[in-house]
Amino acid sequence: MTHYLYQSQNWQKQLSDLVTDPAELLELLDLSSDALYSGAVLATEQFKLRVPRAFVGKMQKNNAFDPLLLQVLPHHLELEEHAGFVTDPLGEEAANQLPGVLHKYKSRFLLTLTGACAVHCRYCFRRHFPYQENLPKNDDWPDIKQYLGQHPEINEVILSGGDPLTLSNRKFALWVERLESIAQIKTLRIHSRVPIVIPERVDDEFISILKNSRLRSILVVHSNHAQELDDLTCSKLLSLATAQITVLNQAVLLKGVNDNADTLVALSQRLFEARVMPYYLHVLDKVKGAHHFDLETDKIDALYTQILAELPGYLVPKLVREIAGENNKTPLYGHATF
Ligand code: SF4
Repeated sequence: MTHYLYQSQNWQKQLSDLVTDPAELLELLDLSSDALYSGAVLATEQFKLRVPRAFVGKMQKNNAFDPLLLQVLPHHLELEEHAGFVTDPLGEEAANQLPGVLHKYKSRFLLTLTGACAVHCRYCFRRHFPYQENLPKNDDWPDIKQYLGQHPEINEVILSGGDPLTLSNRKFALWVERLESIAQIKTLRIHSRVPIVIPERVDDEFISILKNSRLRSILVVHSNHAQELDDLTCSKLLSLATAQITVLNQAVLLKGVNDNADTLVALSQRLFEARVMPYYLHVLDKVKGAHHFDLETDKIDALYTQILAELPGYLVPKLVREIAGENNKTPLYGHATF
């Protein structure tokens, strides 16, 4: 077993000092609260505001339409009901095999080790997911192990949201060691937005846990706009690539945030500067409370056609939608499904 020193607390301090009050967020950005969020208090009660100060620092002051602010600020439109927008759009409760285990895809399974995220994205498809009732405890590990034994086709474990990088390095390393002990598991995939919103999370200990593991590691970060990728964030992402850890990005197409070709092109180019490859561009999951981020089909089609023309193929993310019960994400461009 490798032993790690648990010295770096800086990111954990940031995690314990999030902005959780909409009035404070607006004040930090020199914005008036009256103008922005009548009704937002109720929206906040349904899905709390959580945003790291480092992410607030990337927002433009005095701009009520800042694309980073729009992703996190509770809005009264979240309270509207819209046909087709539901609490569990991907049918995850049905795929929930054991506490914290979602087996949706044949060779991969998802493990949610924590319900906590560093940031609450208002469009999140898991905003209504009952995490607290669904986390694996230490003594659930034998059951998880047994489940894996019954499914030899599983060779990849995906640590997913809540955000696994809100865990301490010690806890994270413990789960990596457990998974390493199962011979059939070859790949460890980590889905996380923390490196974007608190870049210091990518510390030396974390990198060495991945580097010293026998598992092939892939970190899939989540960035929707080039403005999220300041120099510190890019240098941290670059340090993962230098350690030969594959880093991919998934973005969500969001009305008012990144729904124009120039923004999407700039995002891909900036990611590549940090050696992060664009992976998926998700069409919004129809989760209750996120209708105001949704885009019309013909607009999505036109946008994607434009970025295909402007970017080299290796910088074009795959346009996909996740459909409950499907064996894989559904590619959209050139298909009649969206
Ligand atoms: S970080 Fe990911 S899981 Fe957490 S709220 Fe945002 S989109 Fe959802």
